[in-house]
Parts: sequence; C-alpha cells; structure tokens
Amino acid sequence: MNEVQKKPFDINGMLNRIAELMVQYPKAAMFQLYEEGFTSLFEQLLSCIISIRTLDEVSIPVSKRLFAKARTPQELLKLSPLELEDVLHGSSYNGQKAYTMLSIAQTVIGQYNGQLPADYEQLTSLKGVGPKCANLVLGIAAQIPAISVDSHVHRVVNRWGYIQTAQPEKTLSALEKLVPQDRWIDINRLLMPFGKFHCTHNLPKCSICPVLDYCRQVGVTRHR
Ligand code: SF4
Repeated sequence: MNEVQKKPFDINGMLNRIAELMVQYPKAAMFQLYEEGFTSLFEQLLSCIISIRTLDEVSIPVSKRLFAKARTPQELLKLSPLELEDVLHGSSYNGQKAYTMLSIAQTVIGQYNGQLPADYEQLTSLKGVGPKCANLVLGIAAQIPAISVDSHVHRVVNRWGYIQTAQPEKTLSALEKLVPQDRWIDINRLLMPFGKFHCTHNLPKCSICPVLDYCRQVGVTRHR
C-alpha cells in the first residue's frame, strides 16, 4: 500500500483490531499464569525472571513447577540454591536465576515485611529486576498503568512508523507520551503475541494484517 493511502494512527482502534486477532493465539506467559490464579506480585515477579531469554512454552511449565513448591518468599527460602536450580531446569541461566530469586526473597522478608511492594523504584532496586519486569509485574498484578517493552513490542511499533527508536528503552518513553494510560498494559499484553505470531521478525503477515491500513511497514522488504 502506498504511504499516502495510510490512515492517521488511531492507537485505540488498532489495539482493538489486534485484540480480535489475538483471540486465536496463546496469551503471553505472565498473563496466562495470572488467569490461572498466580496473581501475586511475588509470583508474577518470579515468572518474569523465569521468562528472561526463555520461550513462553518453557516459562509456563517451569513457573508452575516452581509454584507447586513455593508461592511466597518464606516458602522459596526453604529451597536450597541447588534444589531451586533443579526446579528451574529448562529456563535459561537457571543457576543464576535461583540465586537471584533467593536474594529477592531474603530482601522482601528483611526489608519489606514479607510483602513485595507495588512500587517501580523499589522493584527495580532488587537485584536482577529491570524496567521490563517491573512494569509487567505492576501492570498485571497491581493493575498500575505501566508499559513493558520487549523485542516484539519494540519491532512492531517501529514498523508501524508510530515511533522511531533504536533501543527498547527509548521506545518505552516514546510510547508513554503517545499511548493513553488506560491502554498501557495492553501494549505488552497484545503486541508481544502479535509480534511473535503475526508481525514476525521474518516475513510478517502483512497481506492479512488487521492494521495494514495504518502501518507504514517501515523496513519491511519481504512479507507474507
Ligand atoms: Fe506488521 Fe505488516 Fe501488519 Fe505492519 S502490516 S503490523 S509490518 S504484519
């Protein structure tokens, strides 16, 4: 489609169309786990750590294996580092993640009376917790408006031509200026699976895309 034929961006309308499309695809891991009852900030944070550099297809069963043994900081600290590493088997860097989780559990008990705070600064001050996980956890478990940017979100919104950013960190601040707060959680909830299954890294499905009339297809040279 020619550039001049594209519509002005309507982020609400675009997200609504993508929501209809994504009904047929699996939900992102943390949203799926939330629906299955793993709703606490602590559980969501553990799931996010498990998901780092790990496919959702692995993150979900590994998270459930962990929650069968420990769902609170107190329960987690009953596991030795080696036991926890074994439970996390399949998730990338499981040994390192085991130490990270135990360190977080100790901090939560020692500094926060056993309750993980729903606060961005305090979450990102924990060892091993970056902006992506902090914002996902706050959005999903505490319903605090927050945008979480992963590689899929970063790629999709730049392809649209909605923003022009080189790094995901810049994408976060650019989206915060453009997207209404009541859709912030939807950005990751919808665009992560949209990028994984539809607007894929190689050969995006432009010919059957529900937002083709808005998308400038920046950098797309081949598509399905
Ligand atoms: Fe992605 Fe193509 Fe759809 Fe644009 S038109 S969002 S590049 S699949």
